[in-house]
Amino acid sequence: MEIPAPLRLRVDRDTLVSNWQALDRMSGAAACGAAVKANGYGLGATLVAETLAKAGCRDFFVANWAEAQALAPLGVTLSVLHGLRAEDLPVAKAGFARPVLNTPEQIARWRDSGGGPCDVMVDTGMNRLGVSVEAVRGGLLDGLSVETLHSHLACADEDVAMNARQQAAFASLKGKSPARRMSLANSAGIGLGTAYHFDLTRPGLALYGGTPRANMADDLRQVAWPEAQILQRRRVTAGETVGYNATWTAPADTEVAIINLGYADGYRRALSGLGAAMVDGVILPVLGRVSMDLIAIDATARPDLAEGDWVAMAYDLARASAACGVSQYELLTGLGQRFGRA
Ligand SMILES: *Cc1c(COP(=O)(O)O)cnc(C)c1O
Repeated sequence: MEIPAPLRLRVDRDTLVSNWQALDRMSGAAACGAAVKANGYGLGATLVAETLAKAGCRDFFVANWAEAQALAPLGVTLSVLHGLRAEDLPVAKAGFARPVLNTPEQIARWRDSGGGPCDVMVDTGMNRLGVSVEAVRGGLLDGLSVETLHSHLACADEDVAMNARQQAAFASLKGKSPARRMSLANSAGIGLGTAYHFDLTRPGLALYGGTPRANMADDLRQVAWPEAQILQRRRVTAGETVGYNATWTAPADTEVAIINLGYADGYRRALSGLGAAMVDGVILPVLGRVSMDLIAIDATARPDLAEGDWVAMAYDLARASAACGVSQYELLTGLGQRFGRA
């Protein structure tokens, strides 16, 4: 028997598409792909990839081969960012995704297995994944069938000299490798301007409504809406308190709704007293502590809301992140397993 969940994560597909279209426009002449690793940043990789493929997105990025396999039925172009372990060879040879080769060992493994279309990551200063710029110049990729040469920016959400240094290091490889295309920019990198766009961009966060740089905020809107059912409605009289540690005291008689959502679902306890639900554009503030599985909201402005009704949470990632000090990425990927997802 399927029991309907008392909380759900609503993905606003139209806004997902309009965010991608905005990023595609901002990417100028470069194509705009989509990072859908970590189950589409928690929103559902299949739903996201299917929606964006229909909108015209052609390049999708996942972290590992299990994530690629889950999207294989869609028939979209997939690149696996974490490359090719020995254990990955059988699945990689099935041909539904390209490895992004990160080390000389991975490159040798791919060549020895017969090669074929692949991507390559070059490290331009982040010191995370990728082969060195010098190795590429030295011919490490000669004879490989490289579709896209990638690099990744460490500080694209900041205005620091490192961005230009990484851009210059990557640009110095133009025409120096067998790659058909070059790709550098994540979401924030798109906002750094044309010099960073190369042939293909790889946004993740911004697709899902995150704002990596203030200059991109106007074009990006909330995609992920945590929604929960009201379990109880009560009247709290002036002077009474609500929730753990009695951190909120009613200044006047207040209508309170208790909803089925909490920090165990990724709605951070740090949003206690800071977050809000939003019902038909009306803000209903979170009152007191966020509990593990429950939140109290001020429902005075909506006398019609009753037990069993659904409310959506305002979950503007930039604002929530500024309010509670948790990164926009974690606010998305931390949304838990108890949500019904549709
Ligand atoms: C995750 C990731 C992206 C997307 O980054 P956002 O900051 O979410 O836009 C792009 N490229 C690589 C290599 C990544 O790992």
